[in-house]
Amino acid sequence: MPNRSNRPASSLPPTLVPTLVDWFARQRRPLPWRTDRDPYHIWVAEVLLQQTRVAQAAPYYERFLREFPTVVSLAEAPLERVLKVWQGAGYYARARHLHTAARELVAKSGGRLPRTVGELEKLPGVGRYSARAIAALAFGARAIPLEANGLRVAARWTREEGDVRRRSVHARLEQALSEALGKRPAGPFAEAIMELGETVCLPADPRCKACPVSFACRAYTELDDPAVLPRRPAPRRRPHVRASVVVLRNRQNRWFVQRRPTTGLLGGLWEFPGGKIAKRESAREAALRELKEETGLRSVRLSPVGVVRHAYSHFTVELHVFAGRGEPRRRPGRRWVTAGELARLPIPKATEKVVRLLSDASVGRASRD
Ligand code: SF4
Repeated sequence: MPNRSNRPASSLPPTLVPTLVDWFARQRRPLPWRTDRDPYHIWVAEVLLQQTRVAQAAPYYERFLREFPTVVSLAEAPLERVLKVWQGAGYYARARHLHTAARELVAKSGGRLPRTVGELEKLPGVGRYSARAIAALAFGARAIPLEANGLRVAARWTREEGDVRRRSVHARLEQALSEALGKRPAGPFAEAIMELGETVCLPADPRCKACPVSFACRAYTELDDPAVLPRRPAPRRRPHVRASVVVLRNRQNRWFVQRRPTTGLLGGLWEFPGGKIAKRESAREAALRELKEETGLRSVRLSPVGVVRHAYSHFTVELHVFAGRGEPRRRPGRRWVTAGELARLPIPKATEKVVRLLSDASVGRASRD
């Protein structure tokens, strides 16, 4: 397809940035993280928005800042409280990293965030995108943060045919935007790109007729369907995991729960014992094996309660839930809890579903308070 514009393939017209920034000033949605430029607020918002949609992120953002209004208050909170407040937002490593980074900041600088991309990137959980976003939005640094929305928009503007997840392609797009930005402040441009990507330049159905910068978009002016960019490799199927879960009750009708290791998937959250069902193993056999491996208990009589299904972003899971009686030894990271106490602990979404199943079933219920 020929380039019908008179500009070099990767360069963007000089009117692009002021037009988009003007549009953003008029159209920006009143989101809670846009009310001030407090670096801590911007940091929390950027971390949340990494893997959570804007509409879902808003209540979590407000709840998090209500609970931890400053870096110092976050650093002083126990991790368990931070995970509980984060519960439901998913990707718990983000909350753990925020907490660790807050403690580092308090120890090093009284809780002040660094101003440069290089220093920000050294904080736990702050990657290439977040460091640029915080530096540009909070400190006016000349940095271009590009996440999925920004990459899509930039790929369409420049008619980029490469895979935007590749570092070389990412760098090319960043360079093109940087040149278009010139000496202007990066923050408003960066936010305007994100807003365009979230509200107009949608992945499958871009609203080009309503786009304020369609004049600058090569995908729009040169292709029949701008939505073909960015090119996407065929999606991989999410693996499916089958696992067994055992809900143990003691004589006081309390449930036995244990805390996952603080690193890794769902780190630091509380759950019932259990684990993956091996090949050629029944769900009951897996439940008994896991129970023995994790608690040392043997020969527990188990009753099936039901099956819970849950989809995480990278895999789906079906949990075969069993109930039984038994009392493993007390150890750190293990607790006996009532239903009310469990509700106050940070737990994975799938465990919430197990609790709902138990409350509907006639077996396995714990006392309420
Ligand atoms: S013209 Fe269409 S494809 Fe191009 S930036 Fe605007 S909405 Fe996106």
